[in-house]
Amino acid sequence: MSEYDAITTEQINIYVSLASDLDKILTKLTKSICSNDCPRAETEGKDSLRCCGSKFVYKSGINSDEFLERQMAEAFDHGWQGETTDGCQYLIKNKGCSLKSYKSPLCLGFVCPGIMSIIQEQYGSKGLEFTENMIEFGVVSDLSTKLEASKTLERLETVVKIGYELI
Ligand code: SF4
Ligand code: SF4
Repeated sequence: MSEYDAITTEQINIYVSLASDLDKILTKLTKSICSNDCPRAETEGKDSLRCCGSKFVYKSGINSDEFLERQMAEAFDHGWQGETTDGCQYLIKNKGCSLKSYKSPLCLGFVCPGIMSIIQEQYGSKGLEFTENMIEFGVVSDLSTKLEASKTLERLETVVKIGYELI
């Protein structure tokens, strides 16, 4: 088997487990900012699509039918009913994203400038380390091949490790 083969089931399972950890960390670190103090909601209106206006970011860098099928199943489990919006298909109006552990690296690693500065102010150099690693993870990671997935898992593991030190 070549390292350029598609991501394996085992890699998907590890990604999902780490993504679930990161979701818990972000729930503590950023959820209330997104819900109550979002700078984009202030400028664009509370019903704006904010960070989720892109149609296909949910599957960015993902080259696995198994992952995408499991992703859709997770969305249904979280109340998604196949709605379509102007933005991402998994965004539920007035509720937010219907994914947790099956977000693409691009969605999972996204930190807006407002969140970045709040985390850095609150947690100092460790906060800076966390946001820098989040950005690197989100921007350069993908699940396109077995090789890329293994690099993605290493970056995600680092982000989760630093994140747990913050909460
Ligand atoms: S990530 Fe930033 S811009 Fe996006 S919803 Fe949260 S606070 Fe708003
Ligand atoms: S998958 Fe979720 S976080 Fe990503 S763009 Fe869609 S609604 Fe937003």
